Amino acid sequence: MSIGDRSVTEAAGRMVAQQKNLEGYVGFANLPNQVYRKSVKRGFEFTLMVVGESGLGKSTLINSLFLTDLYSPEYPGPSHRIKKTVQVEQSKVLIKEGGVQLLLTIVDTPGFGDAVDNSNCWQPVIDHIDSKFEDYLNAESRVNRRQMPDSRVHCCLYFIAPSGHGLKPLDIEFMKRLHEKVNIIPLIAKADTLTPEECQQFKKQIMREIQEHKIKIYEFPETDDEEESKLVKKIKDRLPLAVVGSNTIIEVSGKRVRGRQYPWGVAEVENGEHCDFTILRNMLIRTHMQDLKDVTNNVHYENYRSRKLAAVTYNSADNNKTKGQLTKPDSSEGMSPLAQMEEERREHVTKMKKMEMEMEQVFEMKVKEKIQKLKDSEAELQRRHEQMRKNLEAQHKELEEKRRQLEEEKVSWEAQQRVLEQQKLDASRTLEKNKKKKIF
Ligand code: GDP
Repeated sequence: MSIGDRSVTEAAGRMVAQQKNLEGYVGFANLPNQVYRKSVKRGFEFTLMVVGESGLGKSTLINSLFLTDLYSPEYPGPSHRIKKTVQVEQSKVLIKEGGVQLLLTIVDTPGFGDAVDNSNCWQPVIDHIDSKFEDYLNAESRVNRRQMPDSRVHCCLYFIAPSGHGLKPLDIEFMKRLHEKVNIIPLIAKADTLTPEECQQFKKQIMREIQEHKIKIYEFPETDDEEESKLVKKIKDRLPLAVVGSNTIIEVSGKRVRGRQYPWGVAEVENGEHCDFTILRNMLIRTHMQDLKDVTNNVHYENYRSRKLAAVTYNSADNNKTKGQLTKPDSSEGMSPLAQMEEERREHVTKMKKMEMEMEQVFEMKVKEKIQKLKDSEAELQRRHEQMRKNLEAQHKELEEKRRQLEEEKVSWEAQQRVLEQQKLDASRTLEKNKKKKIF
């Protein structure tokens, strides 16, 4: 074994040892539990939209899916209450299971496809989806984002009539107009009205048409997990899901099941051989609810946001073209929150630049003042220094003069002194002579 090999092994050994330590001490393995507890406490929100002509069994399927009596004889499904024009109706139901809460919002579109002329009947649906995106966008731009209700439509179950003749022009038109706004899952309604072979053929035909028209239905996520990818493949192979709904419980070989009783037998809702109801319910609730929400948030909502932003930019550019310069709208009314935010940001930047310029000006002025002050005091010091120098020179001259005078006085005094000394000497000599004369 070479030295290099050994060091690699040692390093690996150290890593293993570190991993062992981490397992016991740090405790972040508990993170999923924290997330879980928080999510459970907060509860889950999910919005499901059902679209299709009335009478295709939308209300019955919703009741069967969530075991609710969202619609009952006293409060029948929207298509029994509302007729003619397309409307959008929301019902909320709080479902609890094992301490977990699910706030389910069902959006129905009674009247869809029921008129003779169905052109534009998708518009109320588009408007509803957009309005929920708009609500979310507004909530996002608020300062307090802690409690952001999410009423965006996470999934749209599109009911296709079990005609056996493929998609109708309205089906194609609807899906094409909506596929970039919501996760569409196509369903064959009332699948018990087709034989298994007819159903298989019908499914193939629908998928072919979906591909031909480049309709983007909800794409199940790819995964590395073998089990999960098997499940996804199973669902994909069965698309569009053929469903049967029923509010009736029937006894079949001693077991109570949801189903539809016919003279020749029972179509069981939850029997995988009879229809794809269980697959639909499992994917909606157990396996793909979070992914549907994620795709709504990351793809459809992002699309909406960027479209909004593009509209804002386009409008600004348009204003530029018509008015020659960017103009500020008179009021924020009618502006989208994003446009408002952008406007506010621009105003803020301009304000900051102005403040910065003013501060720079003040700073420059202060610096100039300081420099002037320094120059003034320097000149003053210079002047005082000059003055002192002159004073000193004058004093020096005066002293010089005095010294010279003193010097002169000294010289004359010394001369006088010498004269006096001489005189004194002469006088004493004269006196001496006189004394001697007197003696002789
Ligand atoms: P909606 O108008 O789309 O909400 O349809 P409903 O749920 O009110 O159902 C309309 C009728 O179709 C009712 O008589 C239901 O009993 C019936 N129905 C609902 N689901 C099915 C189904 O899966 N198969 C069959 N054969 N009939 C169904």
